[in-house]
Amino acid sequence: MERSRWPSVTVLRLEDYGQRKVEEAVERIFTAWPGAAALTRETRVTIKPNLLMARAPDQATTTHPAVVGAVAAALRRRGVEKITVADSPGGPYTAAALGRIYRACGMTDVEGVMLNTDTTWGSRKAKKGGLAEEFHLIRPILDADVVISVGKLKTHGMTTLSGGVKNLFGCVPGLQKPELHYRYPTLDAFSQMLVDLAETVVPALTIVDAVTAMEGNGPSGGSPRQVGLLAGSMSPFVLDLVLADLIGLKIGDVATLRHSLRRELIPADISEIDIDGDQYEKIPDFRMPDSKALDFSDHMPAPVRPFVRWLRRRVTPRPVIHTERCVGCGKCAESCPARTIQVKEGKAAIDYSRCISCFCCHEMCPVRAIEMGRKWGGSRPRAGQS
Ligand code: SF4
Ligand code: SF4
Repeated sequence: MERSRWPSVTVLRLEDYGQRKVEEAVERIFTAWPGAAALTRETRVTIKPNLLMARAPDQATTTHPAVVGAVAAALRRRGVEKITVADSPGGPYTAAALGRIYRACGMTDVEGVMLNTDTTWGSRKAKKGGLAEEFHLIRPILDADVVISVGKLKTHGMTTLSGGVKNLFGCVPGLQKPELHYRYPTLDAFSQMLVDLAETVVPALTIVDAVTAMEGNGPSGGSPRQVGLLAGSMSPFVLDLVLADLIGLKIGDVATLRHSLRRELIPADISEIDIDGDQYEKIPDFRMPDSKALDFSDHMPAPVRPFVRWLRRRVTPRPVIHTERCVGCGKCAESCPARTIQVKEGKAAIDYSRCISCFCCHEMCPVRAIEMGRKWGGSRPRAGQS
């Protein structure tokens, strides 16, 4: 049978995180990956999981440690000795914060790896042809010979899908991530930047943990959903197309996929991709974020743009703070690129006039006090809400 010109995707059934079964599944993904043959004792490999925040693995916010452990084991079987696990989670990028997150997410149980605590960073020129010219990247990504991205299948309040491409946003150090939200404030621009970033980091292999995924108000405020799959590919773009299809999204629903298509990184039709591995069914009724994004003013004729912007302010999803749940920790204000949140008398409040609906605040709230609403056509702030 003639093979597709697109990188293939391996999708495997994996019902739970039992170590032996996870290792078998990861080994099958490595067997399908041509780059595995080039690994040697000297290859410096950085595994980039999704460690968004200090949450236990069963909350489905972060990549499960069993998957990270299985990737490390597959590398060791091929003789690799220099294996680093690195991510820049939300919030400040400090060794103390990393230590706390590694412990909470179960990364301290992963054997045979170095958990990164070097919080320096450097620059890499972006691939030509996108929006970004240069990226600041954490040191273990810059220093690696091979980056293996190990993401988590989740919904996302801003980008709708978090899988392979979005996982790489954690290669940008700490609070420079909100700065990128501010520099690329629309969904369209931000998504182009994410594609630029993925084309700049160039992970050799991307694996996405969809054993227990997150549906609803992801990437941190949603609910765990049993999907029972592990997927891998050399292309995070093609892999995201398969994951989107799995949970009922089309290319038009996900701005990073739209831009991947424009750059000819994915085909227009999923049937052009070779999907190897096990038989699987699409996941029915996978819940999307309340914010499921609208972004249209950039594509309108100039004369109507002011009206469209006015309309957009009213229908665009925005964060709503439930003050009765707010504990005044300030993590939302710290991560807000527009500096539009203040904590007064122990409660956070948002000045909506400057809010760009990036949902960094929603993402970082440790007690799920921030939900997604709309001024029109959605849940509105009620009494006790900001
Ligand atoms: S809304 Fe959440 S993140 Fe913001 S101060 Fe309150 S508890 Fe902290
Ligand atoms: S208030 Fe929240 S959604 Fe608005 S700009 Fe700040 S972090 Fe983004």
